[in-house]
Parts: sequence; structure tokens; C-alpha cells
Amino acid sequence: MNQDSGADPVVVTRGLTKRYGRTLAVDGVDLEVRAGDRYGFLGPNGSGKTTVIRLLLGLVYATSGQIEVLGRPVPRRVCEVLPEVGALVEGPAAYPHLSGRTNLRLVDAAGPPTAGSGRGLARRADRRRRIEEALERVGLAGIDSRPVRAYSLGMRQRLGLAAALLRRPRLLVLDEPTNGLDPRGIHEIRELLAELNAAGTTVFLSSHLLAEVESLCTRVGVVDRGRLVLQDELAALRAPTGRVILDSPDPAAAVAQLDGRVEERDGRRLVVRHPDPAELNALLVGAGVPVAEITRERRSLEQVVLELTTHSADRIDAPVAAPVPGDVLAGPGDAPEERP
Ligand code: ATP
Repeated sequence: MNQDSGADPVVVTRGLTKRYGRTLAVDGVDLEVRAGDRYGFLGPNGSGKTTVIRLLLGLVYATSGQIEVLGRPVPRRVCEVLPEVGALVEGPAAYPHLSGRTNLRLVDAAGPPTAGSGRGLARRADRRRRIEEALERVGLAGIDSRPVRAYSLGMRQRLGLAAALLRRPRLLVLDEPTNGLDPRGIHEIRELLAELNAAGTTVFLSSHLLAEVESLCTRVGVVDRGRLVLQDELAALRAPTGRVILDSPDPAAAVAQLDGRVEERDGRRLVVRHPDPAELNALLVGAGVPVAEITRERRSLEQVVLELTTHSADRIDAPVAAPVPGDVLAGPGDAPEERP
């Protein structure tokens, strides 16, 4: 499959399409995730994120289009791909009556033997170490033997991540990984993902939380009603706008000094058409105008995404124009004729 970038492609799709009856869940998506990316797959509810993830993992078949994961076609060679992929899709699945450790033991045993694992006792010790390591990484080292059904949602989410980490994957595919976690939990998972990524794991995660993607990801794909409407480096999306935001205790003096370059004013806060805050600061301070704060203006990811997307696909607005029978919508001049 052809791809434009020089970096190693980890996930590439071309014209990926999935139809469920009359619903076009995924519509001609061309994804490109490169080695080392922390890729945030953003979109409103119902926009097709989970379906794309399920397609990448061979859990559902595409209606049309091509998928390559770690250089191999999916679903044709998905069995070779999966041992190198850690996945958490649609909430963590676990046997509720078993403990977290036992669940991980089952996940581990279901996977292929890892390179270098010996036989018998050595293999068992190796497995135990892998499980303890994974539990420790996700902050569950101290869990006891209580069954998973007694876990909080956050603990289940952590356990799901531990399962995804067991094989030290080259690629992590996570569907809404911070679902159900409190702010501290979200922070810990973010740190963990950044750490794993720094050690070489490519991370692909879906989210409808802009702030989450903005704080964690290096590359962003935005999906809206099944279509990929944007795919770019976060740094490029958040490039400076060519304006400077400044806070001055004497905004009137600043406006007078900047003559015609002030585009917005809100109390002490001014937005000035100028590319360089250092130069602007020197100019103002040189003229005796005090400056409390000065910075380049950048578009937030939220602005970029809101411009590109419509609204949540699961939102159902009431019809505006069509009158509902029996409703009093007509004006006085439109009074229905009285029946004889
Ligand atoms: P959310 O953030 O709410 O999980 P999403 O972006 O992951 O949403 P999907 O779950 O991929 O969106 O759903 C995309 C569309 O496909 C929706 O309209 C959904 O109703 C539909 N859909 C998903 N799975 C199926 C299915 N198995 N059968 C029929 N329709 C489906």
C-alpha cells in the first residue's frame, strides 16, 4: 500500500468503509499512524471511532477499503499482527467472578508463547513476573484476591490496560482509555502512555475529550459522521496565528502606541496583529507602556475541531419547520377554516 510519509507506517487504511444496513458508520477513511506517534482519534459520539478500531483489530470486516497494521494486511494476516498489539476496546472485558490476577493469567495463557520463555517452572515464573509488572505499571500492584465484579470502573479500566500491556506491544490501540477514571487516574494513565511511548510503543487512542488528546497526543485525526475530516500533527494545528495576546495595566496607552494594530480589546487584554511577542514587548516597554503578560496566539484544538465537525451524531433535534398535528403553530391570520 502506498503512503506519503517517510516515517514507518504502523497503521494505514485506504478508503476504509463500513456499512451497517443503511448506516454508513465509516466512510472512506485514510488513516496514517506512524511509528512513535501518540495518535488521538477524535470525534463526537456515534462518529465511527469504535467501528474503525474494531476494523483495525479484525473484529469486524470492512465493506470496502484496505487496512495494513504493522506492515501486514488486516484481516488476512491479523493473527500475525495481534501478538504485537495491545488493545482495549469498548470497555475492559473480564470474568467478573475471578480476581484481576487470575483474569490476567488467562489472558496471558491465551496468547502465543513469548520469545525466550522456557518450559515448566521457568515459564510460569516468567508469566508471573509479566503479570506483576503489568499490574504495577497501571497502579494495581496491591490488588487482593477480590473478584473483578467488586472493582470500581476505574480499576476495571486499569485492569484492561494491564491486559493490553502484557505482551509489551509495539502498538497500543485504546478505545476511550480514561473512561471512568477520576482526574488523578486520568493523569496517571496519561503519564503511563507517555512513558510507554517514549520507550518505543506507538499509541493510538480514541477519545471524545479534546483536552485529553491535546495534552497527550502528537498527531490527531478527527472523524465526523464516519468521515476523516482532519489528520495532522498537533503542533501544526496549533501553529501561531500571527497575532499576539497581551495584558497591560494601561491598555489605553498600549492601544495609542500600537496604532491600528489592535484587533480585539477586552479590559486589559489586547489582541494585536504582530508575529513576535519579544519585539512587541520591547516596543511597548521602550515607550513606557507596562506589560504584565505577553504571548503568541494559537488556535486551540477545540476551535479547530468545532470548525470541522457538525454536532454529536447521537443528538436528535426536534424538527423546526414541520408542524405537529394538533399543535397550535399557526398565526392569527392562518387560522384553519372552521368545519361546517
Ligand atoms: P461513541 O463515542 O458514542 O462510542 P463512536 O464514534 O465510537 O461513538 P461507533 O460506535 O463506531 O461510533 O458508531 C458509528 C455508527 O455506527 C453509529 O451510528 C452506530 O449506531 C452505528 N453502529 C455501530 N456498530 C453497529 C452495529 N453493530 N450495528 C449497527 N449499527 C452500528
